[in-house]
Amino acid sequence: MRLVLLGPPGAGKGTQAKRLAERHHVPHLSTGDILRSEVKASSELGRQVDSKMRAGELIDDDTISSVVASRLAQPDAAHGFILDGYPRTIRQANALEGALGSQSLTAVVELMIDEGELFARVEARARVAGSAGARADDNSVTLRKRLVAFIKESQPLSAFYEGRGLLFKTDGSAPVEEIAATIDDHLRTCGGANHPRLPKL
Ligand code: ADP
Repeated sequence: MRLVLLGPPGAGKGTQAKRLAERHHVPHLSTGDILRSEVKASSELGRQVDSKMRAGELIDDDTISSVVASRLAQPDAAHGFILDGYPRTIRQANALEGALGSQSLTAVVELMIDEGELFARVEARARVAGSAGARADDNSVTLRKRLVAFIKESQPLSAFYEGRGLLFKTDGSAPVEEIAATIDDHLRTCGGANHPRLPKL
């Protein structure tokens, strides 16, 4: 199963991606997590992206696309993956198609949240900023910036994937279990479940 999750920061992509990865036995590829571990390891890439991430800005398309392409080439991604945080721009979406070659995505799931709720989640996340384990970019200024970057750069991806006949939209403000079951149902209908005999959620 080759799945892309779309949605703004705070939509719950990570939560759903993790569950889906476990259920379908495919890796959860979060570009945010990959980049954060590079920053932590102080690698060349990490040093290159650190300030942009802290500022809540997107890193450049070619850099992130080559990181993802090499990750997708690893053996554990041969039978599928859940992409979380990539693609984020139309240019990245085109690069992903190039990296996948003749393989197509199974589905693109968009978690939709209304703006009021989103800002409330973002503020709640910002309030825990500074506590142990909090992300360096979780403060209200950068969160708002990430939201604006999403609106400008990533929202056009819905139409892009709609045009490919891949887009499935679901309500990201529903309870976690309900969202998981809705996505699960959709994956059954598009034949993406690696394990068709999995019990229904
Ligand atoms: P969010 O919670 O905002 O969705 P992520 O954990 O996905 O955050 O990403 C954190 C940061 O990593 C982003 O603000 C950006 O700087 C960088 N990043 C992650 N994925 C991408 C991408 N596909 N393109 C550009 N920058 C990215």
